[in-house]
Formats: sequence, structure tokens, C-alpha cells
Amino acid sequence: MPRRKTTNTTGIPRLADIPYHDAWVSYVCVNCKEPNLVRIGQILLDPRSAYTTQKWQCLHCGFMHSKESDLPFTNWPEGSTLSESIVTQRFWNALFVASTEQPQSYWKQCNVCGRVLPFHAFSKHSSWGPLQRQMECRGCKGAINAILNPERTDQQLFESSIRRRLGDLLLQGEDETISFDELFKRFNSRCFKTKQKLDINDRNSWAVDHILPSKYLYPLKVSNAALLSRRANENKRDRWPNEFYTNSELVELAKLTGADLHLLSSKRPVINTSIDVDACVTRVLAVHEQSNLWKRVSELKKMLISYGLINKLSQENKQLLGYEKESK
Ligand SMILES: [Zn+2]
Ligand SMILES: [Zn+2]
Repeated sequence: MPRRKTTNTTGIPRLADIPYHDAWVSYVCVNCKEPNLVRIGQILLDPRSAYTTQKWQCLHCGFMHSKESDLPFTNWPEGSTLSESIVTQRFWNALFVASTEQPQSYWKQCNVCGRVLPFHAFSKHSSWGPLQRQMECRGCKGAINAILNPERTDQQLFESSIRRRLGDLLLQGEDETISFDELFKRFNSRCFKTKQKLDINDRNSWAVDHILPSKYLYPLKVSNAALLSRRANENKRDRWPNEFYTNSELVELAKLTGADLHLLSSKRPVINTSIDVDACVTRVLAVHEQSNLWKRVSELKKMLISYGLINKLSQENKQLLGYEKESK
């Protein structure tokens, strides 16, 4: 059946002919053991009578699930698997009850991804359909929300700040000293983003932007420093330059600082693999501070794995961080 598509403001299409209010029943075939789904519609079954009204035929092997069928279990006692036996009747009754017992027993179809999924894969939507669930599954809902509300969660911000802090620790000793006088001269005493005039003596009103963020392992250098107002810098945080500056700003920034325009304008963050990763790691491990060493090590491991930098480590640091054990 061809599916027409409707699009909403998110650009994620909904499938047009999905009966998203309908309830489905799920069961596993007693004969071939394959999972099956039966579309029930918008009136839920009465679990006490489903056993007398329902006949579900397996889509895979054709076996009929009904109180009139014998059970296919050949290793059960003689006679117990015949449909007229009380054993078999109890079995059928329980099978139908289990699939229809309560709204949570049912399944429904997501009108975004088209999958038929269990009740709990959908969030609540009061007075909507017999199951009172939303028309898209939680996976699709998450994707839609991410587009509607792209702000990062507190957890993501928290993780990002850990990364930045770790990046700063890794880069200690790699940073150049920046002359504020020269920075102000280079940027004509103005915030590079807002163009507002800044006072070098009012230290709280301006900040040095780490153009290529320390989170991606770029040390602070003259070519990696921009002058921003405090507020503009708070907006920039550890974002990749292409996510914060416009194209013409990037061109101007490259001219002013001598930074690599190709790198600045990259659409995705590029990890700086040219630093001495091993020396940086040794430094981080040697830092004397109150904060939890275990936490620092586990974050460091995650970061180095996701940046693909493990093979830049010395044997000793690999062992210290526990990579050696895992690779064997
Ligand atoms: Zn079957
Ligand atoms: Zn879905």
C-alpha cells in the first residue's frame, strides 16, 4: 500500500494512513514460536470473553489459536492437548487473558516510524484512543523534540563542561600566554561578535574566546584567541566556530588571527590530534587536586576513546588507564 506522507514543522514526516488509535494484540505462536500481531481496532477486548470470541491465526505457520484447537505440544501427557480437555481449555483461556488483560498488554502503531510497538513505547496522551497514548513512539517523539527544542539538557551541559574542564587540564602547558594589550589592538577594542566597544580595564566585561575549543584539544594561542564581550563569550561557550560565527565573520577572524580558515569553517568539530596526547595525559594524571581521581580517569578514558587517540598513548599510560586489559 503506498503511503502518503504529511510533514509538520519539524521536517520529520508522519505516515498518513497509520491507524494510530488502534490497539493491537501481541502473542507468540504456540506452534512455530514466532511473534504475531493482531489488529483489534479501537474497542479493547474483554479479557473474560476474549477466549470465547477470538480466533488468531499465526501469520507464519497458519496455526489457529482458538479454544477449538488442540495444542501442538507432543511431549504433554496423553489426551491433555485435545481441545476438549480441561488442561487445554485452561491454557487457551490464560493465553487470551494474558494478551488482553489490561491496556498495558496491548500494542499500537507509531505513525512516524510505522512500527507496531508495546504500550510502554508510547507516552501518555489523556483521552486519546482506547490506550490513551500518543501517536508517535517515544523514539520518534525524542527525535521530534530534539528538532523542536534543540537546547541541550542539563545533563548534556554538565557532560560538556566536564569535557571542557578535562580539555583545559590536558592542555595545561600547551597554552601560549596571550598579551591582552595586543589582543585589544588586534580586535580594535571591540567585541568581535557584537562590535560593542570594550574597556580593557573592566576585566568582567570581556573574555578571551578560545576560538577552536579546548574540549577538542586546541590550546590557547594568539591565532586561537578572539576578543568577545563577556555575554557573547557565554553564548559561544565551547561551540565549534562554524556553529557560532557567520561565514563572513569566520573569514575576518582568519585574517585577524592567522587561523586556518578551512578548519574554522569545518561543519563538524575536528579533533586536534597534533598535540602530544601522551604528555598531556601524563600531566592530567599527575594533577594534585581534591576532585575524584576515579571520575577523572573514567571521563578521560571516554574522551580518548571517542576522539580515537588511544594509540597515541605510551604503553605505560595505556596500562595505567586500563586499555591494555580490555584489548586482550
Ligand atoms: Zn506459527
Ligand atoms: Zn516511531
